[in-house]
Amino acid sequence: MSNIIDGKAVSLEIKEKLKERISAIRSEGRRVPCLAVIIVGDNPASRSYVRGKIKAAEFTGMDSRLIELPEDVSERELMDTIEALNGDAGTDGILVQLPLPRHISEDRVLDAISPAKDVDGFHPVNVANLWLGRPCFIPCTPQGIIRLIESTGEPIEGKRVVVVGRSNIVGKPVAKLLLDRNATVTIAHSRTPDLAAVTREADILVAAVGRAGTITGDMIKPGAIVIDVGINRTSDGHLTGDVDFASAAGVAGWITPVPGGVGPMTIACLIYNTLHAFEEHYGAKRPGEFEGYAPQ
Ligand code: NDP
Repeated sequence: MSNIIDGKAVSLEIKEKLKERISAIRSEGRRVPCLAVIIVGDNPASRSYVRGKIKAAEFTGMDSRLIELPEDVSERELMDTIEALNGDAGTDGILVQLPLPRHISEDRVLDAISPAKDVDGFHPVNVANLWLGRPCFIPCTPQGIIRLIESTGEPIEGKRVVVVGRSNIVGKPVAKLLLDRNATVTIAHSRTPDLAAVTREADILVAAVGRAGTITGDMIKPGAIVIDVGINRTSDGHLTGDVDFASAAGVAGWITPVPGGVGPMTIACLIYNTLHAFEEHYGAKRPGEFEGYAPQ
């Protein structure tokens, strides 16, 4: 049976450390970091993600602001809200929960967030800096994936990694972070012929597809580290990953469950990035403090 990589436990450790740091800031008499979360409309999945983010901020003692806008809000009004937050000295991080209603351009909205407050790491400036190997906000899910792999104690350097999925928010940035750690990285996608032959080469396999059960046990190299990013809802309302856990668990050396794997890490890394933004704003970053997840 595979070792389970417990994302809940690893994320709790991160949040406990963040809580200590925020408590120290408070006891120095400074204002504590503040995360602003904007949600548009009533999408139940988005509401649940946003609740998780606000709860995690509260857990660590970080301030948060939830800004709820109606489904029919205009793009201009949303942009005005973002611009006000960009200029607000009391706001360190700004997150706009995606997806947005169709009448609003996600690209224009993400571009409007100040790169210095872009704790999701989706602004083109942060994306460019990630790919150039310069300091930036590391997007939360890819950052969480790296931390989970590191939690196994297995080295990344020299390993063959296959990332299945090439989205801008997961597949591409996680591949870059793994490359920075000297893995040999392959990115597979829907046009990859004979996916199983590719995934069977992987010492570390990251599945970010969005289709339940895409990766089955026979597609995994025995002993591999398997990170399941997928969040898929079954017809009976349960969450399931992109990996068929039942067949994979006997083959993988390490595997993340869904739920309780990557999901909680994404949230912990968001809080981490917001503290990072706060420290940058005040020039109070202690040397080496945030370097761990910067591009190398
Ligand atoms: P996207 O839909 O943007 O990308 C999916 C990728 O998977 C695409 O590159 C697509 O290829 C590829 N793909 C689709 N079908 C296949 C297939 N049969 N074989 C190989 N590749 C395939 O998804 P995201 O990256 O945004 O998300 C992926 C999953 O991760 C989703 O389930 C999402 O809910 C989850 N997620 C979880 C998070 C968390 O915190 N745990 C955070 C973000 C996402 P192509 O490019 O060719 O179309």
